[in-house]
Amino acid sequence: MNNGPVQKDPPACSVCGEPAVIHQRHVGRYLCGTHLIADLGQRVSETIASRQQVVPGDCVAVALSGGKDSTALLLILHRLFGSRSDVRLVAITVDEGISGYREATVRSAVGLVRQLGIEHITVSFEELFGDTLDMFLNGREPEACSICGILRKKALVAGAERAGATKLATGHNLDDEAQSVLMNVLRGDLMRLVRDSGRESSGRFIPRIKPLMYVQEKEIATYLMVQGIWDLPECPYAIHALRREVRSVLSGLEYRHPGTMLRLMENKKTVATAFGGKAPGEPVGTCRECGEPCSGETCQVCRLRHSLGF
Ligand code: SF4
Ligand code: ZN
Repeated sequence: MNNGPVQKDPPACSVCGEPAVIHQRHVGRYLCGTHLIADLGQRVSETIASRQQVVPGDCVAVALSGGKDSTALLLILHRLFGSRSDVRLVAITVDEGISGYREATVRSAVGLVRQLGIEHITVSFEELFGDTLDMFLNGREPEACSICGILRKKALVAGAERAGATKLATGHNLDDEAQSVLMNVLRGDLMRLVRDSGRESSGRFIPRIKPLMYVQEKEIATYLMVQGIWDLPECPYAIHALRREVRSVLSGLEYRHPGTMLRLMENKKTVATAFGGKAPGEPVGTCRECGEPCSGETCQVCRLRHSLGF
């Protein structure tokens, strides 16, 4: 009698019966690599069409950090629009100056744009703000993500403007979006949900689009893996972020209660609808120092400029 471990066959793809690479628990389906690639392309294309994220004549600046989300985003957008003459894609990479981490992701970004033949613009904190994130932090590491977030946004817009872009696409996925909803609730900042929901269509800025907003992080990682692309190192400052704890709680909940993240996203819509899409404190004036739109007298970037001394 053989008492050794029982070798189980991998589950079969619900579409073609080939060995599956992923279990999409929220829809109770298994997919092989080929059908996962097709499924993601289809869903992203539907998100783009239903929200009119990209229209003929657009120049889409794609934020490309070189990490997994932005790599998947550029691959998918290139498949959807790469051969179209009425849509232009330009990749924008922000080099914050995070030593031991950013060099590798920038290299990966450069390799990808070369392979796809996409125009590429790199902007650095050093060039825009006079120094690297590492130097700015110097003892303020626990605040890394809030400082970096504000400066990154500014740098991405600078890159998008340089490209003459009409849209700015970021790789935020469903996990990121659901985490943001939960974090805003935990911080007692429900109004931010409304501000975030309106961002896709604000007329004064280059509108931001999030084509991966309904794709799970694990789907993206598997999508890249089946194409031979493996995950890159994580930013060393991420350990300080509240987001990291929220991420771990949320992925446990999603595993035990599939669909949790999508239901969290529903809250965003409900709150936004209840407030007619307008949050108190939404940018009303302009910064008295730099002239950028902001809600107070001075914008976040100028406030940082004073406290960091750049
Ligand atoms: Fe910036 Fe934080 Fe992202 Fe690192 S993890 S790149 S510090 S926002
Ligand atoms: Zn299949």
